[in-house]
Amino acid sequence: MPTTWKPDSWRALPIEQVPDYPDQAALAAVEAHLSSYPPLVFAGEARKLKKSLAKVAAGEAFLLQGGDCAESFAEHGADNIRDFFRVFLQMAVVLTYGAAQPVVKVGRIAGQFAKPRSKSTETIDGVELPSYRGDIINGMDFTPESRIPDPQRQEMAYRQSAATLNLLRAFAGGGYANLDNVHKWTLGFVKGTQSSRYQEYADRITESLAFMRACGVHPESVSEMRTTDFYTSHEALLLGYEQALTRVDSTTGDWYGTSGHMIWIGDRTRQPGHAHIEYCRGIKNPIGLKCGPSLAPDELIRLIDTLNPDNEPGRLTLITRYGADKVGDYLPALIRAVQREGRSVVWSCDPMHGNTITLNSYKTRPFDRILKEVGAFFDVHAAEGTHPGGIHVEMTGRDVTECTGGAVAISGEQLSDRYHSHCDPRLNADQALELAFLVAERIKK
Ligand code: PEP
Ligand code: MN
Repeated sequence: MPTTWKPDSWRALPIEQVPDYPDQAALAAVEAHLSSYPPLVFAGEARKLKKSLAKVAAGEAFLLQGGDCAESFAEHGADNIRDFFRVFLQMAVVLTYGAAQPVVKVGRIAGQFAKPRSKSTETIDGVELPSYRGDIINGMDFTPESRIPDPQRQEMAYRQSAATLNLLRAFAGGGYANLDNVHKWTLGFVKGTQSSRYQEYADRITESLAFMRACGVHPESVSEMRTTDFYTSHEALLLGYEQALTRVDSTTGDWYGTSGHMIWIGDRTRQPGHAHIEYCRGIKNPIGLKCGPSLAPDELIRLIDTLNPDNEPGRLTLITRYGADKVGDYLPALIRAVQREGRSVVWSCDPMHGNTITLNSYKTRPFDRILKEVGAFFDVHAAEGTHPGGIHVEMTGRDVTECTGGAVAISGEQLSDRYHSHCDPRLNADQALELAFLVAERIKK
């Protein structure tokens, strides 16, 4: 690892998951443009998020992180953003009530475009083409032209991120996030499920709101109940893009990634001494690290040494993703190593990426496996005496049929009805909210 960090010091190191751009000069030109464009987020916002995450690390708040597996150019529209934001806020309210703690809201949105792939090519009917790597890199159509990495796509991703962020900022600050509204939407969902269990829970939230109103606390007059802090995040996979948006903060002189408030390092690109770890160590944003079965406890400690040498609370979120049956085998050892070394981290559970199966030729995830992984995560943290700090989910506000199960049950046969994901299967709006109810019940115990 070079001792002097620079926004481009990652370029000298081994790197995984690099797209094969045929025209390097065109790539360099796009990166030069991007580096002159305005930042998407500001350093002060990233610092504020870090402070909130420090509360999660201390056991005083809960983290909700979620959104598409991969954002797409084709699905960019106001309705999609609104529907996502709406169900995300509903989840946050349900979780806030369950945890009786603030919920830190971080979307996988406004920059979640680049995808790591297990295989670099895909074969259909004997035809082999480069894999789709996310709209920021190439196209999903199964044609040779579409699969060629095109640097212009980075400019498109930047502009889509800016437009998405603009609408999200308006929603978060403009009254859409009003607590009364959000709860009314949830009552609609509860009615639809006809579940007395969720009805009872929602009734208790209704009562609490009525009580607050009786005490003179009105959502219209209290800014905390009318607006919300909402942050963006994505996987920092395409490092040329990330580098181009890396800027010095004028107030502190520190480097920040300005492509999103929080960025994370994927399970396939977290090799110690490699490029992705190098890039992330030098920026001051909150960082996530995906932890799968292949991450040994001593390697994790080495990574923490590199990514958070000053043990700053809120800097590092460990996003564990094992699969429902493996949590008990792997998570305790990581927790013990972190505890033994006295490191401050946020523990978050990604119950999606270890629970993917193929059914009727579709990649899917059974809702009960997702729930089981979250349950096992809570069990292990209870046994180790640590704070199960949050969840990280792939979800959409739309009524898709990508994951099976849930109260409004999706069957294997229904997967073909509305399967729209560009990459991994997402929870639909009902499944996402149901998960929030079930997690909230669990936190309450
Ligand atoms: C993802 O979050 O979409 C992803 C690819 O996850 P992981 O790195 O954990 O496999
Ligand atoms: Mn995914």
